[in-house]
Amino acid sequence: MDDSERLKEIREQIAEKTRIIAEAFCQRTLLASKIAALKAKLNLPIDDYRVEENLAKQVREICANYGLDSAKGLRLLNLLISESITLQKSAYKPLHTPTTIFEESKRLEQQGLKVIHLEVGEPDFGPPQRVVEALIKAVKEGRTHYTSQYGLPELRRALADKMSERWGASIKPDEILVTPGGRAALHLALSATLTQGDSAIIIEPAWPAYRNSIESLNCRIRAVHTRLEDRWEPDVNKIEELIDDTTKIIILNTPNNPTGKALDRKTVEAVIEIAAKHNITILSDEAYVEFSYKDRCSLIPEDCKKIVIGTFSKAWGMTGFRLGYIITSKELCAAVADLAGELYTCVPEPIQWAGVAALECFDEVDRYVAEMRRRRDLVTSLLKPLPIEFIEPDGAFYVFFKINGEIRGEEFVEKMLKRQQVALTPGSSFGNYPQFVRLSFCRPEEELREGISRMRGML
Ligand code: PMP
Repeated sequence: MDDSERLKEIREQIAEKTRIIAEAFCQRTLLASKIAALKAKLNLPIDDYRVEENLAKQVREICANYGLDSAKGLRLLNLLISESITLQKSAYKPLHTPTTIFEESKRLEQQGLKVIHLEVGEPDFGPPQRVVEALIKAVKEGRTHYTSQYGLPELRRALADKMSERWGASIKPDEILVTPGGRAALHLALSATLTQGDSAIIIEPAWPAYRNSIESLNCRIRAVHTRLEDRWEPDVNKIEELIDDTTKIIILNTPNNPTGKALDRKTVEAVIEIAAKHNITILSDEAYVEFSYKDRCSLIPEDCKKIVIGTFSKAWGMTGFRLGYIITSKELCAAVADLAGELYTCVPEPIQWAGVAALECFDEVDRYVAEMRRRRDLVTSLLKPLPIEFIEPDGAFYVFFKINGEIRGEEFVEKMLKRQQVALTPGSSFGNYPQFVRLSFCRPEEELREGISRMRGML
């Protein structure tokens, strides 16, 4: 047989194998849809890592028999599992999500009703005056051009200096990338780090953007479920158990949205150790780091493979400015900058000048943080007598509470909105927490008092 005949023969074999895979895939999908229907009926959680682990074991064995890198087989398995999960999700229709709450409260407001917004994580105090002035000045002076996709050199320099000073580190400007908000920073960083079929570990309850972003990249989420009974403390061994050859990232968010839990130093150090052992990057979402009512903890000074995400939205009350940043290695910054350039060219120049001014007013940040701490104390004292359970938040501006009783979080949220015009977020948006509800204390004192007093009658 000559080479061209051999090529033809191998091609036929490949075609046959592809047919077998396609057929097996269709059969697997049909079976997965049956599982989806049964799980929805039995009210079982979508993720079941024990079942996945058995499948992974078989895949590893098969790969070993053929002398293939098991990461390749496991990536394919992750894609198959992701398909099953999409099917299972379509069988579970939540009564409420942050989007439905938003739309419903807009509808009520259009009818002329006043809604108390305890659902959004948007501080009511707005940006410091100096930031507003810097923005206007930049526009008036014609500083309204394209900038480098990495961000304005002045802003990167100011971020490097301020963050180094605040955290006792020595960050260089080329380790910083300016982004249009923390959400974009997260997605860009994940896009530059994950390949489809990879997996990432999160600690739930968690901000829904992690799951959404990772799944949109056709990657697999593995979640460590934490409990109120354990004061939301993650079991670090469980994190390690979820790691395999496809794991590229562990996401930390301290203080956490929605629980307000701040991880202690020991836990963070243990995660750093595990990540180093398995050559995994830690993505530290530090959106709420300034709102720490006990010890502040950042990964900025840590010597490990890390991506730190920051935002001007919360600490400076600049949500609508859409300004955030990534601090990571110079190499990863370059990869993210390529994506950023393709997507949006750069963050608007005047907004970046407003960011430079913001970094000069940490005194305002301290004032905002003190106000949020006062509200935290007020809200927790008002909530204490109610038939709910929660842990006093160490940081951020949310209380994540469990309802003692039959009513599920989503039903409670619906009742509160429709009957009392108080908007809240159901716990189910943050993981498998059907009995929980998140209350955001980003509103002035009188609204917080009124909102909580309306809750009393509904519990
Ligand atoms: N991280 C967490 C945990 C958040 O809750 C948010 C906003 N809700 C962000 C990051 C990003 O905020 P932004 O996109 O406004 O910067």
